[in-house]
Order: sequence, then structure tokens, then C-alpha cells
Amino acid sequence: MTPPFALSALRMEGLHVTSSPSVHAKGASLLDSAVALTRDTERAALHAGLLRTLGEMLPLSEVRLAERGELAPGAPAIGGGSWHLLPLRGPDAPHGKEIAVHLGSDSAEDVSVLHGFLRLYRNFLAVIEESERDRLTQLRNRRAFDLRLDGLSAQLIRSRRHATADNAYWLALIDIDHFKSINDRYGHLYGDEVLILLAQLLRQHFGEHHDAYRYGGEEFAALISARSDKGARQLLERFRAAVEGTEFPGVKQVTVSIGYAPLEPGKAPPVIIERADRALYEAKGRGRNRVVDVNALLGPAANPDHGPREWGDIELF
Ligand code: GH3
Ligand code: MG
Ligand code: MG
Repeated sequence: MTPPFALSALRMEGLHVTSSPSVHAKGASLLDSAVALTRDTERAALHAGLLRTLGEMLPLSEVRLAERGELAPGAPAIGGGSWHLLPLRGPDAPHGKEIAVHLGSDSAEDVSVLHGFLRLYRNFLAVIEESERDRLTQLRNRRAFDLRLDGLSAQLIRSRRHATADNAYWLALIDIDHFKSINDRYGHLYGDEVLILLAQLLRQHFGEHHDAYRYGGEEFAALISARSDKGARQLLERFRAAVEGTEFPGVKQVTVSIGYAPLEPGKAPPVIIERADRALYEAKGRGRNRVVDVNALLGPAANPDHGPREWGDIELF
């Protein structure tokens, strides 16, 4: 699933990336390539900026999406020059694809400049990746979560006319029950161990197609994609039960409470977070170790009345 929104993001950031005269893209334009690899708007702007700078420095003849493994780095190109791959991995990489640039020159100096640039960019991305990861659990952190939620929300607004069951998302906030007493009774180290184990369970349950984050302290967030409200609930219920059924070293049993809310085009990210938080609060109030859907709450509890309520009607881009 590749959100087609980087163009707007780039306009927002004032980058106005256009194909440089030396880049005659086939199939996908330079900009399309940048668009295709977006995961969040900030990252899209970075990648597009790189492509633009490369196009200004070197005689690039084409930038395109290649199937992963289709091109070996440095492979000779038909008509001269060679193919090189942008060092995008993990959440940045377009699913199953790579961004390939065709350097239209056989000059050893050009190749060396390109390689130097790509090496720098790889290091640069590693630093960014590190800044978006939580040290203890190795889950992505709050900053990564905020960027992803912003990106998904913007994507929903843009695609709201074509919204299908396939692009429905829910935000779940997951909070460990009575974690303070786990720390108090067994010590902070055991508490940390619980967080690490819980992160592993999160990765197992939400890893492949969904996103799990350490939201802060003993609270986690998951952005889940499901076909229906029922599907989202089943996934969360399965996770809750898995935590309950796991034996945590020393501590034995740990439970979590979960509140969740759908992402909707008319609701800004802070409102969605607040709604999931209301549901979580309700799950705690009802005795913990349970999953609560904000839409099952009645009255004002389901709809916080501060913050921008109608978000999608503001023309953002
Ligand atoms: P509730 O069921 O209502 O959520 O109760 P709780 O005890 O889980 O919630 P509370 O907010 O009172 O306590 C959270 C505790 O989490 C307090 C804090 O010391 C602990 N905590 C936060 N971050 C860490 C961490 O990185 N490691 C450890 N060991 N403890 C942490
Ligand atoms: Mg807690
Ligand atoms: Mg908490």
C-alpha cells in the first residue's frame, strides 16, 4: 500500500520538485518515484530532495521503481551508463520495490560521486531511523507514531471519495494494567523485562501489516488496518488474550487494557488519539484486561468536544 500523497507534501514544504532537464523518466517521472516511496510526508520530502540534488549533480537519464532484486547495483544499462539503487530499507522502502537511478555516464568520476552520495545518504537514513526507535523495546517511538498517524490521516482525506474497506484504519492505545505495582513488587528491572516481552508480543501480532509503537512509559499504540470494525476488534481481542496467557518471568501474569477508535477523514490526529484514550479510560474503569471501542461509548465520552472536529473540510493542500 503506497500512499500517493507526497506531491502535496512537497508542495507544502515548498520544494517544488520537478524533473531536472537531464532526467527523462520513463514510465514513472522523477516525482512519481519520490511519491511512490513515501511513508510519511516528512520522509517523502527528504527522498525527493535527494533525487533532485542527484539530478542536478549528475547526468541521470532515468529514475524508476524496480522490482526488488531485478537490478544488481552497478549493472550496466542498455545504451550506456549503469543502474544504481537508493539505500531505502524497512519502513521507507516501497513494498517489494526499489528506487533505481540510471546514471547515463560511464565516467569513473561520476560513478564515484554517486556512490559517495549514496553512502552518505545511507548513514543519514540510519541516524533518522535510530531517532525514531525506542532503545528499550526496539519498537518505533512516539515521534515515528506521530509522523505515521499524520501521514495516514492526510491520506484518508485525500482518498475519502474512493475509500474502500481495504483502507480502513484504527488506532489502538494499549496500556499495561497495574504496572506501577509490578515495579514496586519486583523491581524496575523486572518491569523493563515486561516491557521488552510485551513489545515482542506486539511485533508478533501487529508486525507485518500493522504498526506497533511505544507511545510512552508502559503505554503502546498500534495502527491497524482491517476490513471492518469487527476485524479490528478480533485482532485486538486476540492480542489481549495472548498477553493474559503469556507467562512473564518472575512476574507471571500481566494484563493490558485497550481502547480503540477508527481513523476518519473528518477527525484530526489529536481527536483520534483522544477518542482512543477515552475508550482506554473506559476499559480501565470497567475493571481492566479488556478491549473497548470508542463507538460503543455513549454521549460526550465518545466525542471529545475540543480541538478541530471537522478537519477534512479545511483545504490543506
Ligand atoms: P493502570 O492499570 O491504571 O494503568 O495502572 P498503572 O500502575 O499501570 O499506571 P501508572 O500510570 O500509575 O503507572 C505507570 C508506571 O509505569 C509508573 C512508571 O514508573 C512506570 N514506567 C514508565 N516507564 C517505565 C520504564 O521504562 N520501565 C519501568 N520499569 N517502568 C516504567
Ligand atoms: Mg498502566
Ligand atoms: Mg499508563
